[in-house]
Amino acid sequence: MTATATRVLVLNSGSSSVKYQLLDMKPDSAGGSAAGTRLAVGLVERIGEETSRLAHTPLATGGDKRETEGPIADHEAALKAVAAELSADGLGLDSPQLAAIGHRVVHGGLKFTAPTVIDDAVLKEIERLVPVAPLHNPANITGIRTAQALRPDLPQVAVFDTAFHTTMPEHAARYAIDVATADAHRIRRYGFHGTSHAYVSRKTAELLGKDPSEVNVIVLHLGNGASASAVAGGRCVDTSMGLTPLEGLVMGTRSGDIDPAVTFHLKRVAGMSEDDVDVLLNKKSGLVGLCGDNDMREIRRRIDEGDERARLAFDIYIHRLKKYIGAYTAVLGRVDAVAFTAGVGENAAPVRAAAVAGLEEMGLAVDADLNAVRSGEPRLISPEYSRVAVAVVPTDEELEIAQQTYALVNA
Ligand code: ADP
Repeated sequence: MTATATRVLVLNSGSSSVKYQLLDMKPDSAGGSAAGTRLAVGLVERIGEETSRLAHTPLATGGDKRETEGPIADHEAALKAVAAELSADGLGLDSPQLAAIGHRVVHGGLKFTAPTVIDDAVLKEIERLVPVAPLHNPANITGIRTAQALRPDLPQVAVFDTAFHTTMPEHAARYAIDVATADAHRIRRYGFHGTSHAYVSRKTAELLGKDPSEVNVIVLHLGNGASASAVAGGRCVDTSMGLTPLEGLVMGTRSGDIDPAVTFHLKRVAGMSEDDVDVLLNKKSGLVGLCGDNDMREIRRRIDEGDERARLAFDIYIHRLKKYIGAYTAVLGRVDAVAFTAGVGENAAPVRAAAVAGLEEMGLAVDADLNAVRSGEPRLISPEYSRVAVAVVPTDEELEIAQQTYALVNA
């Protein structure tokens, strides 16, 4: 890496999509921490179909979003198309200013507790974890291999969704099942959305004017996927997702917590196959299963029109959230802040108000006026008297991946 190499390309490779951001990590003019200025952002969707689509926004040049449609056969073709878009703005992958490529990797098991420079052994280990992350790790591996082929000389860094949760104590991470069976099949709670929980808990401490080591935070990451975490002094001590991202909160299309016997029942009594049950719980449950919509905006609109199904779906969603706030208050003993983040957490004021309503005895309250403010900045929404701070803290997983990647290659 040359002294001028301050850019990081962040890649989030899904099974049929690639999201990317190119960030400049040059320290800001005050000489402080890396600014993480976005130079370009984009998305390739429907890879492998006739109607693939690439949307690219060259923020560095202030140019308009460019969209192209047409078949993109595979991840290699997708990354080449992204590279061509970046080159068109003078930001090509061949630039000496590119310091590294940071890859989001969903499952790092227990081995990867921190971002890791990728070599053959690391790739093998990520492959070994495919059985516990069959939907995610294969796409991440393809993204890594493709990027390596394009720039074999460049450091490639894996930033794991599970890493932040590896500090969970055994009593929180283990399921109460036969130990030998669990160990043989690596069955335990790993947790996900780790880069978001890490970023948001740190930002929340900053908002309180404290060091992360001094505060206990409950982070509620409420997007289409949703998870809660209990973070004590900067370390995760519990989180709601488990072996897979199916456990925990009610989500857009996933059930979250459910009696595991429901799955036997569906097979024995309803005659469903394993795959049917998988699809039911991951794709046809949660808000969409309860009321047909998974977008919180649409659900709120229906509630305003008096729709009972939407109301019940909302109430079930909130009830589960409350249970986790209560549980994590007990786990942490002392809570300094509850932080809402991601699409629903950052935007849906009624969700925040309802999740905290009635929890005054636990020191939690929301100020209606502060809660109604729309802003992209971290902010407090609790009244002065509230013992526990309630905050809205926009997440930024790409910035977190870029920062971790840049810090590692500069170490
Ligand atoms: P993911 O990254 O898990 O796909 P996001 O964090 O982007 O999801 O969250 C997407 C969800 O955020 C949408 O499904 C919708 O429910 C919710 N959302 C986005 N904008 C708003 C808004 N203005 N008001 C309420 N909910 C919103």
